[in-house]
Amino acid sequence: MSVEVPDEDPRVELGRLAASLRAYLETQRDSGASGVPRGERLARSARGPDAEGALPAHPAQPRPHRQAPEIHAQAQQPQRAFVAATHAAPAAPAAPAAPAPEPIAPPAAPPPSRGDAPPSVSIGTIATPPRALAVLQAEVAACTRCGLAATRTNTVFSRGNPEASIVFIGEAPGADEDAQGVPFVGRAGQLLDKMIAAMGLDPERDVYVCNIVKCRPPGNRRPEAEELEACTPYLDEQLANVSPKVLVAMGNTAVGALFHTKMGITRLRGEWKLYKGRIPTMPTYHPSYLLRPSPQQGEAKRQAWEDLQAVMKKLGLKRG
Ligand code: URA
Ligand code: SF4
Repeated sequence: MSVEVPDEDPRVELGRLAASLRAYLETQRDSGASGVPRGERLARSARGPDAEGALPAHPAQPRPHRQAPEIHAQAQQPQRAFVAATHAAPAAPAAPAAPAPEPIAPPAAPPPSRGDAPPSVSIGTIATPPRALAVLQAEVAACTRCGLAATRTNTVFSRGNPEASIVFIGEAPGADEDAQGVPFVGRAGQLLDKMIAAMGLDPERDVYVCNIVKCRPPGNRRPEAEELEACTPYLDEQLANVSPKVLVAMGNTAVGALFHTKMGITRLRGEWKLYKGRIPTMPTYHPSYLLRPSPQQGEAKRQAWEDLQAVMKKLGLKRG
C-alpha cells in the first residue's frame, strides 16, 4: 500500500518523522528506560543494515559468525607466548609468530541498497536505543561533566573493532593515552596487546578496548567516586552499542565501577559475573599491576592467563 503525500518532499517528511522519534526517545531516556530490543537498534542503522538485527535480543544466543574455529589450532602456542610476553617463566622461549587468524568479527556491513526500508519502530515497546558510537564519541570529546575535563589533553574513547565479541575495560587513560587520545598505548597497553595476541587474537581486529573513565586523572591517581559516576553512563551506552559477548574487566576500578563493589580484584578475579544481568564478564588483574614487581607477580601473571583462557573457552576458542 502506498501513501500519497502530495506537495511534500519525502525527505522533509522523513526528517520530521526522525525528529519526532528522536524527541520521543529522549523522553524515554530521561525517564530512565533501558534495554534495547536488538532488532530495533537504531544505532546500527547508521552503519548500514545489520545482519544481526534479525537475531533475538537474548544474549545467550550464539552468534556463529563470530566464532573462529581456525583459532583452535593455535591454542597450544599462546600459553608460551603469554608467559614469554609477561616474563612469568624466564626459561620459556617465545613462541614463533603465529599466522594471522581469521577475523572473529564479521566484515563491515555492505552499504544499504536504495530500496532499504527505514528501521521499523514499535513505539509501544521500544526502549532507549544507544546512540551511534560516533555520536557518543563526539559528546565525550566535548564533555565537561567532571573536573577531569580541566586537565586533560585529549579524551580517550576506544580502540579496536566495535563489532568485536570481546571488550577489554581498563581504568582511565595515563599520560601516553592522554597525549594520543587512544586507550592502552603505553607500557600497560603493550602488555595488554601481548596478552591478546597470546589468546590467538588480533588486538585491532578481534577486540574492542576502552576505559571506565575517558579523561586522565592528574598524576595517574585513581578516579574519584564523582568522576566514576559522571563517566560510567558513557561506558554503559558504549557497551550497549558494541554489544559484545564477553567483557574482561581489568583491575579494581573497572570491576568496582561495573559491579558496584568495593571487594578487591584478588578476591573477584577468575569468577564470571554478569554485567547488567546479561553479559558474562571476567574480572582479572590490570596489566599495570602485572608489570609491577612484587612477590605475587609471577602467580598473578599465571592467574591472569588462566582468566583469559576461561574467556577463550567461553567464546569457543579453546577446548577443555
Ligand atoms: N591504564 C588504563 O587503565 N587505561 C589505559 O588506557 C592505560 C593505562
Ligand atoms: Fe566527561 Fe568522563 Fe571526561 Fe569526566 S572523565 S569530563 S565525565 S568524559
